[in-house]
Amino acid sequence: ELSTRLTAVARFIPQSKRVADIGADHAMLLSYLVSEGRVESGVAGEVNFGPFKNARDRVRTLGMEERISVRKGDGLEVIAPGEAEVIMIAGMGGALIASILDKGKEELVGVTRLVLQPNNGQRRLRKWLFENGWQLIAEDLIEDAGIIYDILVAESGDASLPYEKTGLPVKVAMEVGPILWSENHPLLMGRIEEALAERERILKSLASGRTPEAEVRK
Ligand code: SAM
Repeated sequence: ELSTRLTAVARFIPQSKRVADIGADHAMLLSYLVSEGRVESGVAGEVNFGPFKNARDRVRTLGMEERISVRKGDGLEVIAPGEAEVIMIAGMGGALIASILDKGKEELVGVTRLVLQPNNGQRRLRKWLFENGWQLIAEDLIEDAGIIYDILVAESGDASLPYEKTGLPVKVAMEVGPILWSENHPLLMGRIEEALAERERILKSLASGRTPEAEVRK
């Protein structure tokens, strides 16, 4: 019953003791990992009451209260420094994920892996990881119900390494994904072509406008 998207995210969670899912909503991911025996215990964090209640109710229904602690709060403030080994954040914009990580630097001490699934704003998120010493160790694209989702996996290390391997300017590699590029991910070319076509369309529509503003934007 786990979606194709979340199943793909789950593949990057190593066998581990303590995991935190920030923005957990129904706690689907954590309850799946616990039921599979992949994770010993976890924290499900939610900032909004509705989703927090969804998580709490589901964890109760499954009888997993001993394993999954459901907490209400903003971003990483729901965990203590050193409490989590792995942090996953899925189903939000990349800018929001980056700001949650940025505000939670203290709680990131002792975290060995980040598993992130931004719905958009991938470049922003890759830039934050790069500037904060998180090395991308895996990237994936997954198609679910006609939408392509990114998965970024990072561990602390040499953040520039995956970028050097591409031979692309860093700015470009941050847009396309350095590992997706190096490994020639089967869904990557289609996505780049779509993005280029979109830019072509914008350029064309700007070409028909003759105002000075249109010139500048072009
Ligand atoms: N992670 C689940 C998934 O991928 O299916 C749920 C994604 S849902 C679209 C995004 C969730 O993030 C919402 O439930 C929202 O309340 C929560 N959220 C947004 N900002 C947050 C923050 N700063 N801290 C914790 N949760 C947040």
